[in-house]
Amino acid sequence: MLEYGAMNEKLIIIGTGPAGYTAAIYAARADLKPLVFTGDQLGGQLTTTTEVENFPGFPEGIMGPELMFNMSSQAEKFGARYAYETVTAVEKDGESGLFVVKTTGGEYTAQAVIVATGAKARYMGLPGEKELIGHGLTACATCDGSFYRDVPVCVVGGGDSACEEASFLTRFASKVYLIHRRDRLRASKAMQQRVLSNPKIEILWNSTISDYRKDDSGELCGIVLSDTETGEQRPLELKCVFMAIGHEPNSKFLGDLVDTDPAGFIIRPWGGAATRTPGLFAAGDVADAVYKQAISAAGMGCWAALEAERYLLELED
Ligand code: NAP
Repeated sequence: MLEYGAMNEKLIIIGTGPAGYTAAIYAARADLKPLVFTGDQLGGQLTTTTEVENFPGFPEGIMGPELMFNMSSQAEKFGARYAYETVTAVEKDGESGLFVVKTTGGEYTAQAVIVATGAKARYMGLPGEKELIGHGLTACATCDGSFYRDVPVCVVGGGDSACEEASFLTRFASKVYLIHRRDRLRASKAMQQRVLSNPKIEILWNSTISDYRKDDSGELCGIVLSDTETGEQRPLELKCVFMAIGHEPNSKFLGDLVDTDPAGFIIRPWGGAATRTPGLFAAGDVADAVYKQAISAAGMGCWAALEAERYLLELED
């Protein structure tokens, strides 16, 4: 039998991106006093971006970190509590039906859990890459495309995301290079066709980036392109690299409490936020292989809180 002490919670929320904070705002306003685990990237992916122009309510745009700070304060105002710990595992105790949440700081139990741990965009892993994120290196064309008008940019990848982003970027950029490591695209035929027929897109086959170039102000100003077959290198001037080589959802720590697709995105069998385990809800990028936007993550956070509230009410009945 589990011992329940001060660490027994009604609702635990894991993650502090737009999904986690929105879930926290709704749950706190419903008087559930959620305990929110921040993880090691407080505020999530948006804290690594600069200006956000597509989050409704901010006609002048808002800086990513400021937006996340506002969400955090808003949730705290209504009674959300933060624990600056990273969750390492979640299990369900068969006897009590409670979730056991193991963190870097201890072990907690909860009646319901919302997972909003996001997905990490993959990058190449080149030296100096981290410092360039937000300074000419990004993984979100929807977010940052319009900042690069009438200048050359590139997209890396050969899947649907890369093709969709390359097409989208032709609205702004003077030229879009699509850099792909093979001689064939992975994307669907329709998406390939869109790219191949767009005169503003040049596909650089069998190519990869082997280095980044930055100017005196630390902004990206070019890349070194490598031929994956011959190893030949050449410089290429451009103002932004849009990385589209896939995402890694942060879902592994849930073990078999959830079903995932082959890439690791949590499956929500009923379309809302519920997972296959009663009382365990998922919101935001960790459960969204398609849209991955701050506003859609926030919307899913709202669903998760409302569904968790309903679940907890049913437990009481
Ligand atoms: P993806 O299909 O996994 O494609 C990733 C691409 O990145 C592949 O072309 C891969 O090359 C390349 N890549 C991976 N690691 C790399 C590395 N280290 N260096 C260079 N290139 C690398 O990912 P996605 O395009 O993000 O799509 C994810 C899922 O969402 C897919 O199921 C996709 O169909 C779906 N999606 C659908 C739509 C739509 O229907 N509108 C839009 C976006 C995404 P290789 O080809 O050589 O493996």
